[in-house]
Amino acid sequence: MEFTEHGLILKVGRFREYDQWVRLLTPTRGILTAFAFGGSRSRRRFCGCLDALNLVLFKARSSRNMAYLQLEESTLLSGYPRLKANLPKLGMAANCIKFLQAFQLGVDTSRAVYDLTLATLEALDDGGEDQDFWPLFFRAAVAFESGFAPDFKSCHLCGKNIEQIPSPVFCVERGSVSCQVCRPSTGLALPASRGTMRLLSHLQATGPREWRSLRVVSEIRSECYEIVDKYVQYHLGLRQNERGFHRE
Ligand SMILES: [Zn+2]
Repeated sequence: MEFTEHGLILKVGRFREYDQWVRLLTPTRGILTAFAFGGSRSRRRFCGCLDALNLVLFKARSSRNMAYLQLEESTLLSGYPRLKANLPKLGMAANCIKFLQAFQLGVDTSRAVYDLTLATLEALDDGGEDQDFWPLFFRAAVAFESGFAPDFKSCHLCGKNIEQIPSPVFCVERGSVSCQVCRPSTGLALPASRGTMRLLSHLQATGPREWRSLRVVSEIRSECYEIVDKYVQYHLGLRQNERGFHRE
């Protein structure tokens, strides 16, 4: 089987002298690993574009016994040069990529997560340098794209609007806001100010292009971090430590 596909290179490794393996995020096939024989020296077939955070158009085919995928050729579509020239931005992009690799991406959500990842890299490449919230917002958006649609606007039981709830909480397991009266007696409930709930609703309704203009005060950022972190941990089974993300 041979196919041509777009792909964002997440990671590249070398084996033997000139051969490489490449991990790619694709719009229709999830995350793939393919072998590029002669990848580190064939400029004719790979144009020197086999590097992490390069968007490429590639041709691949399965080996005869279908045991592995072989990269035949690739062309560079975008290398995000301004992002790569800026260390803080590069660090944030690398964090998003690490999260994606730990996350088990299904083929059905492949397109949405691919589009979100490209939009995040484009937004970072074209501004966004004065904010450090990108990895956090990216994780939240990946969780939203993966079929989890938390309700940040009203109490899950009585339906009271967030604007009318004094001291609202966010119930992690339910993925919804609760007033103090309807708050479940068990499960993790985190403080959820109206500002934080408005921000998370905004993230759900918009994309990375719109996030560039956001200014988030530190209290809302910490609350948002706590909610997204616990939500991703509970629903996606991923926990962050100093080395990256790992599955629980
Ligand atoms: Zn209620």
